[in-house]
Amino acid sequence: MVNTMENTNSIAIALKKVRFLWPKATEPTIAIDELNIHHGEQLFISGPSGSGKSTLLSLIAGILVPTSGEIKINDCVTNQLSSGERDIFRGDHIGFIFQQFNLIPYLTVLENVVIPCQLSKLRTQNSIENYGSVLNEAKALLQRLDLSSELWHQKAHQLSVGQQQRVAAARALIGKPSILIADEPTSALDANRRQDFLNLLLSACNDHGTTLLFVSHDLDIMQSFSQAIHLNDINDCGKGEG
Ligand code: ADP
Ligand code: MG
Repeated sequence: MVNTMENTNSIAIALKKVRFLWPKATEPTIAIDELNIHHGEQLFISGPSGSGKSTLLSLIAGILVPTSGEIKINDCVTNQLSSGERDIFRGDHIGFIFQQFNLIPYLTVLENVVIPCQLSKLRTQNSIENYGSVLNEAKALLQRLDLSSELWHQKAHQLSVGQQQRVAAARALIGKPSILIADEPTSALDANRRQDFLNLLLSACNDHGTTLLFVSHDLDIMQSFSQAIHLNDINDCGKGEG
């Protein structure tokens, strides 16, 4: 019993019998019987285009809700929350890096990085506790991600792709969310910058104990992660529920 408890406590993300069908679809895009991801794990998720990687990340982030089954994040069954509660939960606990970064182009670098704290009291508190202020943490993260202070007051659209991606990473990490989700964040970077960016991201996650879910079809970078799964190996889509 004790062992079971310990195992349960160490799980950050647990999916049970999760099925998801897009409206009007006849087959599920996601049908995962069981998936457990431990706190602090750095998980690489690969799979062909259209296999459901982004759909899975949206389910874990609570942007989408499963058609059936259960998703537990930090011991909260998020699919049972109202949509407003899920938004708050996501804002508090999950940082997101998108393929196209989704920075607000007319805001400065620093203004972009602090946005998650404006949307989450918990992340603001974390920032203040650990760095004295949200702005201090934003600067520390940008420094950590190797973004020169000369750029901090520039508008996001004035930066190169690689610089924007590091801003997006700082924005995702601010206020110490326990989970970081990155959906093909390196696909716009060239090979050298890809590994540099990845090293910075992994070491920032290590320092914070952040659970990282990293989707990519670039198998060259897979070896940098503590765990790797191929979506097709765990996703039984197309099979009836019986
Ligand atoms: P991946 O990220 O692995 O490329 P996606 O999760 O984006 O795959 O897509 C998986 C499947 O879900 C695809 O067949 C795609 O057409 C479908 N899909 C994705 N987004 C939508 C949507 N908004 N509405 C309907 N179907 C969608
Ligand atoms: Mg995708």
